[in-house]
Amino acid sequence: MSKTVDVVIIGAGAAGMMAAIRAGQRGRRVLVLDHAKAPGEKIRISGGGRCNFTNIHAGPKNYLSANPHFAKSALARFTPQDFLAMVEAHKIGWHEKTLGQLFCDDSAKDIIRMLLEEMKAANVKLQLQTEIEAVRKTGDGFDIVTNQGAFACQSVIIATGGKSIPKMGATGFAYKIAEQFGLSLIETRPGLVPLTLEPGLLGELAVLAGVAVDASISHGKTAFDEALLFTHRGLSGPAILQISSYWREGDHITLSLQPDTDFLGILKTAKRDNGRQAVQTVLSGHLPKRLAQYCVERAGITKPLADLSDKALIGLVESLQKWVLKPAGSEGYRTAEVTLGGVDTKDLESKTMQAKTVPGLYFIGEAVDVTGWLGGYNFQWAWASGHAAGLAA
Ligand code: FAD
Repeated sequence: MSKTVDVVIIGAGAAGMMAAIRAGQRGRRVLVLDHAKAPGEKIRISGGGRCNFTNIHAGPKNYLSANPHFAKSALARFTPQDFLAMVEAHKIGWHEKTLGQLFCDDSAKDIIRMLLEEMKAANVKLQLQTEIEAVRKTGDGFDIVTNQGAFACQSVIIATGGKSIPKMGATGFAYKIAEQFGLSLIETRPGLVPLTLEPGLLGELAVLAGVAVDASISHGKTAFDEALLFTHRGLSGPAILQISSYWREGDHITLSLQPDTDFLGILKTAKRDNGRQAVQTVLSGHLPKRLAQYCVERAGITKPLADLSDKALIGLVESLQKWVLKPAGSEGYRTAEVTLGGVDTKDLESKTMQAKTVPGLYFIGEAVDVTGWLGGYNFQWAWASGHAAGLAA
């Protein structure tokens, strides 16, 4: 005999907990199921332990999706200010770090605690360490079969996230359920992920491992101006994570180191004022020393400034600010912060996240083909899509 509730939410992550709060506040009997030992594990590790919980600039332009218009409705109905109001009501200290990114002052655990308190106030039941064996359509709802018994419900919200960080319990569960009910999927791939290099280039760049520099990284018409980090495996840092969501195997990216620095002007002035200087000495004033040294060697420069033509200086500057490079691949789901692609938005109602052909079935959060940039945008999508489904289910 199944226990009966109104709404079962599968996945106690950011999106599932927000949906549970909203549905519970409407007086719906809500049960949240998760196979993990603790709720909100990705919230806990996010933002270096301080959770970049939203971005004050979040809008549809900050998301990748086969249908860029889909996210508009949900994002407009639950804004970064709405989430911030909740954070402030719970007296959680926060600060803006950079580029509109809001972080907890103390710990990401404060956000989990806040969500659990709101769930409790809304009478939501949470059941962890529960394996979902089947989701079956019944006459007027669904049967959720688990290793802890079966639950009958009118609505089921799938909030099991994407494939990133399988070590933390990520599964392709949402995609399996979408396929079972005849919804289309957009091919998934790792996003916000470090890029790797082929062994020859990696060997050449090994001297730079650990070096960070401000850069503009571009792929086609898309560019991000943030930090770039050289690592033992390839390239990382916010600018690389951002561009990785746009990059496809076989594509080139262009690095512009210190894009706002007029290297040509600096080198010409230094040549005029003290031409006996080594080029790397001048560059070291504006770039990390190891990087300056590497760039000079890569450009094949061995003479002091005074002996270099303007053409040679222009060539050097181009190698710094128009450095075209072909990544070999990415580090994959093992380290990716998000999964691109997922449940095709053309099969979902943008206002409610309900499947168009299966009344009562909802998909939210990272499982859906809406992926944000780095910087709090992915949590904002989780909150907003959870809010939309929680008001409808
Ligand atoms: P999740 O948070 O992944 O939750 C899914 C839940 O479903 C989990 O509790 C999981 O245990 C459960 N589940 C999965 N499969 C099953 C199953 N088969 N049965 C039962 N339960 C299941 N975004 C930001 O905006 N800001 C940040 O600072 C940030 N930092 C990040 C740092 C890291 C290291 C990572 C990996 C991601 C980060 N992100 C950040 C992205 C963000 O964490 C996700 O986009 C967000 O958590 C997605 O929320 P979700 O609820 O859709 O999925």
